[in-house]
Amino acid sequence: MSNIEQTLSIIKPDAVERNLDSEIKEMFKNKGFKIIKEKKIQIEKLEAEKFYKVHETKPFYNDLCSYLSSGPIVVMVLEKENAVLANRELMGATNPQEAAEGTIRKKYGISIDKNSVHGSDSTDNAKIEIDFFFKD
Ligand code: UDP
Ligand code: MG
Repeated sequence: MSNIEQTLSIIKPDAVERNLDSEIKEMFKNKGFKIIKEKKIQIEKLEAEKFYKVHETKPFYNDLCSYLSSGPIVVMVLEKENAVLANRELMGATNPQEAAEGTIRKKYGISIDKNSVHGSDSTDNAKIEIDFFFKD
């Protein structure tokens, strides 16, 4: 049975700054993702704090929120069969040093904090995150 899903992807400031957004979008398209919605924005730190609220108790929370709001990002809704998991696979491990060959983070990630992309980690969070950026 088919299971078309949508997931939220963010091209983070380190990648936008290096003009990697077109190349990263090509990687999504080559894997069969459709880019349903897309916008280039810069968010306030307060918005980043809301977006990453699940991480509020983590030691890296403050730096993470400063970083996500530090420059332009590209936010996208991606659609494909089993999109949530497929996107996590294409992104690779959180730490680029541990990411598999052929993944976005292996190819472009600089460090665990500057790891070039965000992707929703579950279908429930995908809905919440898509609403966060595209509700209106
Ligand atoms: N992060 C970090 N230091 C860590 C763990 C995570 O800076 O030790 C950052 C990293 O940018 C990561 C984000 O926090 O992408 C969210 O962490 P999560 O565990 O949700 O990783 P992801 O789902 O992005 O792979
Ligand atoms: Mg996560």
